[in-house]
Amino acid sequence: PEPGQLVLEVDAARKQFGGLVAVNDISFKVRAGEIVGLIGPNGAGKSTTFNLITGVLPLTGGKVSFMGGRIDTRRARDIAKLGVGRTFQHVQLLPTMTVLENVALGAHLRSDVSVLAGTLRTDRAREARLLHEAAVQLQRVGLGDYLHEQAGNLALGQQRIVEIARALAADPVLLLLDEPAAGLRYKEKQALGAVLKQLRAEGMSILLVEHDMEFVMELTNHLVVMDFGTKLAEGPPAEVQNNPAVLEAYLGG
Ligand code: ADP
Ligand code: MG
Repeated sequence: PEPGQLVLEVDAARKQFGGLVAVNDISFKVRAGEIVGLIGPNGAGKSTTFNLITGVLPLTGGKVSFMGGRIDTRRARDIAKLGVGRTFQHVQLLPTMTVLENVALGAHLRSDVSVLAGTLRTDRAREARLLHEAAVQLQRVGLGDYLHEQAGNLALGQQRIVEIARALAADPVLLLLDEPAAGLRYKEKQALGAVLKQLRAEGMSILLVEHDMEFVMELTNHLVVMDFGTKLAEGPPAEVQNNPAVLEAYLGG
């Protein structure tokens, strides 16, 4: 996509779990080359919003469009293949496999429907291609020195960046990151932030879920604030930061 082009449009997305309205008619947009922050207290509906965009959960109402076409009627696997990559709130690496193998599984996702580790070894040429692509992505995010380490031996901050590399290996247009900075130390957050800024400079579009307002403040172009499933505010970070309803949700609650 061209810089500034509309990549993702969430239009009055709604999700109810029985009587609970987890996502209450939420609308926002992500444009190419932009980091949009989706923030809010625990239980606000951020992860559920990700699950609606990625087709993990069906919507109760509203719609989601990606690169101009509706995706909320598609299956999760097809949405991923269209170019929506994601990481999960909890680290999902296979700790005893190498960093390189973990990332190769992401490239695998784009080329085939199965993500079973065992099938990686069935086709030598394909395996070599996937491992090469994985190495390229790990170098891109600054982890070229760790290719053959066991993933479980890396620091948490590095593991989170490996997960981003794995999502990148599927060649996404849009990356959805669910609390990648959670539990990280200051220096690790700085390193993660630097990777995200670099990806943005390369034209990647990123939707970043974050609990910690400070981390997103200097990183994002646009902020969407949720609380109890509802959009409280949206706009440039500096503006949103001083919005009374946002201050109330974060400090007054
Ligand atoms: P956040 O990611 O902002 O912390 P979530 O999207 O995980 O919030 O959750 C929003 C609300 O929806 C919470 O009240 C949560 O308990 C509820 N919820 C999330 N997933 C489910 C589910 N599968 N079934 C029932 N309730 C759910
Ligand atoms: Mg969450």
